[in-house]
Amino acid sequence: MTDLATIAGHLDALLGTAAIPDYPGAVNGVQLANRGAIRRVAASVDISKRVIDGAIAAAANLLIVHHGMFWGGAQPIVGPVYERIRMLVTHDIAVYSSHLPLDAHPSLGNNVLLAHTLGLEPVGGFARYKTIDVGVRGETDLETTELCNRAEAFARRHGGGVRVTTIPPGHRTRRWGICTGAGADLETLREALGSGIDTLIVGEGPHWTAIDADEAGLTIIYAGHYATETLGVRALAEHVATTFDLPWLFVDAPTGL
Ligand SMILES: [Zn+2]
Repeated sequence: MTDLATIAGHLDALLGTAAIPDYPGAVNGVQLANRGAIRRVAASVDISKRVIDGAIAAAANLLIVHHGMFWGGAQPIVGPVYERIRMLVTHDIAVYSSHLPLDAHPSLGNNVLLAHTLGLEPVGGFARYKTIDVGVRGETDLETTELCNRAEAFARRHGGGVRVTTIPPGHRTRRWGICTGAGADLETLREALGSGIDTLIVGEGPHWTAIDADEAGLTIIYAGHYATETLGVRALAEHVATTFDLPWLFVDAPTGL
């Protein structure tokens, strides 16, 4: 019999949640309590009706997510927001969310796991946010088109695809940086160019980042916000399952982005 507080205490310590800065809507840790002992763990990238339906169908009563219930900020609990909470409470499902602590974790994080999935080995941090590096960087010697192909195969497994800026013929990736999710922005582009990175791998980014990258000689591979953030929640749920001897599943609900 394992209760929510025991699992949450373990995860908060493992992820270093108290010491990691984040955006106001992240609300890392337990977001919704439950009453019963935890019987089965479900992991998903987002909170949605589709995800909650999947957790209910599997009789899971702990849902671990990357983007939690509060991204929209304080708002009336009506419409879809009400419906999600009603379903969770009716089925006694607790919600635990981890955003930047999970992105940045050295073994269970989205960024380190995406690097490994693409056959890359990180040597340091990348994508500074306040006091932490959210992403990872490293060195290789690989045809950039081959790296794109690997990213494409990965993205397709998660209902997505890859967009890429212009790759000069025969271009090889020698220094790379990864920042999953909405990883292409003014700060990451500046940091990449300042540290000699030639290939930036992100989930998504604004249109203008492709133009700036082209003109600066930087290749950006956009591998999908959803796809690039499936890895951390899976690893975290599997870790909980192993540690507390519980069954687990991943509820796949691709957004197409
Ligand atoms: Zn994200």
